[in-house]
Formats: sequence, structure tokens, C-alpha cells
Amino acid sequence: MSGISAQLPCDDGPASVLVVEDDPAITTQLVRGLTRAGYAVSSVGTGREVLGRPAADVVLLDLGLPDIDGIELCRRLRSRAVGAIIVITARGEESDRVLALDQGADDYLVKPFGLAEMLARVRAVLRRSRPPDDEVLRHGELNVDLRTGKVTMAGREVPLTPKEFAIIECLAIDPGRVVTREEIMDQAWNAHWYGPMKVLDVHVASLRRKLGQAALIETVYGRGFRLADP
Ligand code: CA
Repeated sequence: MSGISAQLPCDDGPASVLVVEDDPAITTQLVRGLTRAGYAVSSVGTGREVLGRPAADVVLLDLGLPDIDGIELCRRLRSRAVGAIIVITARGEESDRVLALDQGADDYLVKPFGLAEMLARVRAVLRRSRPPDDEVLRHGELNVDLRTGKVTMAGREVPLTPKEFAIIECLAIDPGRVVTREEIMDQAWNAHWYGPMKVLDVHVASLRRKLGQAALIETVYGRGFRLADP
């Protein structure tokens, strides 16, 4: 269990997420990532089981289930006023995504997707559906406040540029996981970056200097970066 906590500090505890997916490998990854991020996670593999469950704050709903049509399930969940619904579709099923959004889905993810993207979508729908209280990623002495955009190290505020903030957010969402350069560039630059990757190194160097703990951001040669254990 890492030291990260992405839950919203509501009276009723961490936000709950229900994963509805019939592919065990994907389910395992989703459950692991969400649990590490501090959510109360449960999972089912069929549509019938979903309808028998208590409501969750967020339902991650694979549209390709073995028993009930995903769009139909989305419609039925929405009519029962469950929390937010994020549908998961395979590439090329654009019409399904549109239908799902029409039937009340709040957002969608297209397979294959990264953990960081999935967590960002979950946070976004929770922000819209739950009170916008503080939402803080914690790792050792590092605090990254996603609502205010403030970063502190051991209680001391570290002024960062927007790019530096985006980079530390990518890393702090799942400490210990190697985040590839491409993922960071996609998030921090909000689009694919066709320029030199060296730009990222410049920002990471500056970030390390400002955080005052150069070893906190580890370079994983040939792959990317990750946060070291505190
Ligand atoms: Ca499926």
C-alpha cells in the first residue's frame, strides 16, 4: 500500500468505485490502481451482478459484457440514479460511446488506456458530482493539492510552473510506477509533443531543484520517471 490518498475527505469516507469488466486481467489492473489511489473498490464481471449491487460513487462500465448489452445497462443504471458512470469501450466503437453518453454516461475511456488517464477521469467525474473539497496526493513529505494547484514539501510551499505541476501530478498519482516520457509529455503539454524530449529533462531538473530532494524523482533509464520511496 503506498502513502497516496486521492479520496475526497467527505464524512462518508473514501469515494467508492465499482469496476464492471469481464476481462480478469483488466479488472485486476483497474482494481489495483484505484485501491492504491485510496478509493473503496469493488468489481463484478457481469451486468446482472451490477444491478444487484448498492450504488457506488463511480461505476467504470465495460460496454462489452457477456450478459446484458452495455448501453442498456447504462440506461438502467442511470434510471436508478447511481453515481457517475464512465463507460469503457474498445477502439473503433465510437457509435457505442455516443449512445452511452446519450443514455447518461458521464465520460468514457477507450481501450487501451493508461492508469493515469483512468484516475484523472475518475477524479473529474467525482469533482463534478461531489463537493469540491481538497483533493491531495501525498507521498512521504510531498503534498500535491489538485484543487488549489499548490505543492508542499515537509509543509513548505514549493512554487511551481504549470508544466512542473503537471509533471509532479503525473508522478504522484501512482508513486512507484514508471511513468513514460510520452505519458508525461501528453499530459503536461496537453497534446503530443513533436519537439525534442530534452525539454522534459529541463523541467524535471528544475522540479528536482525546487523540491530540494533530487532523489525523489528517479530517472528510469530508457523508460521514464517515477517517485522513489520516501
Ligand atoms: Ca468486455
